[in-house]
Amino acid sequence: MKRIIVIGGGFAGLSASVYLSEKDHKVTLIESAPKLGGRAYSLLNKKINDVYDNGQHIMMGCYNDTISFLQKINSLDKISIQDSLNINFVKKGGEIFKLQAPKNFYPFNLGYALLNFKALSIKERFKIIDFILDLMCCFSCDLKDKTVQEWLECKKQSPNSIKSFWQILVVGALNTTIDKASAEIFHEILCRIFLDGNNSASIVIPNVGLTQVYAEGAAQYIIERKGKILLSEKVKHITCKGNKVKEIVTDKNIYKNFDYVISAIPAQAFEYIICNNSKFKTLQGIPSFNYSPILNVHFWLKENPFKEKFYGLIDSKIHWLFNHGKHISLTTSAADWSIGLDNSDIMKDFCFELENYFPIFHSNLIMDYKVLKEKRATFIPDIESNMVRKNFLSKFDNLIYAGDWTNTELPSTIESAVLSGRLAAGKVITASK
Ligand SMILES: Cc1cc2nc3c(=O)[nH]c(=O)nc-3n(C[C@H](O)[C@H](O)[C@H](O)COP(=O)(O)OP(=O)(O)OC[C@H]3O[C@@H](n4cnc5c(N)ncnc54)[C@H](O)[C@@H]3O)c2cc1C
Repeated sequence: MKRIIVIGGGFAGLSASVYLSEKDHKVTLIESAPKLGGRAYSLLNKKINDVYDNGQHIMMGCYNDTISFLQKINSLDKISIQDSLNINFVKKGGEIFKLQAPKNFYPFNLGYALLNFKALSIKERFKIIDFILDLMCCFSCDLKDKTVQEWLECKKQSPNSIKSFWQILVVGALNTTIDKASAEIFHEILCRIFLDGNNSASIVIPNVGLTQVYAEGAAQYIIERKGKILLSEKVKHITCKGNKVKEIVTDKNIYKNFDYVISAIPAQAFEYIICNNSKFKTLQGIPSFNYSPILNVHFWLKENPFKEKFYGLIDSKIHWLFNHGKHISLTTSAADWSIGLDNSDIMKDFCFELENYFPIFHSNLIMDYKVLKEKRATFIPDIESNMVRKNFLSKFDNLIYAGDWTNTELPSTIESAVLSGRLAAGKVITASK
């Protein structure tokens, strides 16, 4: 049994702690916020008495690590996994285009879905299928220095298929635009979505608030196995000697009795941690990233006119609408434009946009609203960030990094965070054998 300090209680820290607790290692998880969850958490609208999330999170069937983690903490019943890919896309005016795969006959069912996606011309649909078939022989090293835009142009994708298909996929999956996103990382995502089995392309949506989906179950799992969770305690100093971390100093305590430390905080959080009188980030060469915001607008409605669980909007500043019955949440990725704007202006703008896309919707249905801007929602998975993540290694024998930004080959997602936590725990478990 080893004693491990885990710093950070987001998906990565909780995943590491759960995998370590499973093997009877003694975990002390230190989280600076008064709650677990990191960038994925729930809030209460007190006026309406309804729980909502800081940002609607969607997962996919190819989130294998996340699904295993949720299964481990007994939370699989808190998510809905589609039987197969099924998305309703809407164009201005209300016309709906289905991207829907039959349940069986993978991979032909995905081909069928794409061939019947009538938002595109038949030639454009074939070009997309051709692109996806090409994934099998396109080695990602060819794409190392390419953006997604360069890749799509090189594969002769039309401006309309870029606007009505690729841009939606890229912005949704990578939270950045095609001119910035790395083709290499997008290649990895496409392979996982389209080439990794029947359920990989299915959309997975939480049935309840994110805190209930994972933070509560993970905390219970850790505590039942004699782990400790310390909230509102911030790591401020890390004392090192040679190639070992000796002390973890928080604003409340000093910890010396540990075998390993797993750091599961975002890369930029190292800016505020001191190591032997210098900034930890500079001293240890923690990579710097550019970040991209996500905007979420929540409307609580007197009556809900929406039929489907969610919609993708084509060529709109609102990218997705999620229907939670009492309330709907509207998500915009790569929402840099929204940062300087007033919440009330954004709300009015979104009402207008919704009325244009859904003739069934009228702004007088709204009882209450919240606008949430997460400025540093995710790092931008561009060519440079791909490079620095690959080359980054811990300089200490007893310190392991986790977090969505570490080298998982995935963009800044739940799956990357959970996978990084499992890999970090795995290093401790293997070293302890
Ligand atoms: C609005 C929004 C929408 C998103 N949508 C999606 C989506 O649809 N699908 C998807 O897969 N991903 C999505 N993401 C990304 C996803 O939320 C993140 O990739 C994931 O939550 C990152 O988890 P993490 O554990 O690596 O980091 P974090 O969640 O940032 O956790 C790090 C934790 O470390 C703590 N910490 C920091 N410094 C210290 C310190 N000094 N001492 C102690 N604790 C410290 C922080 O308080 C935090 O709790 C979204 C993100 C946002 C913000």
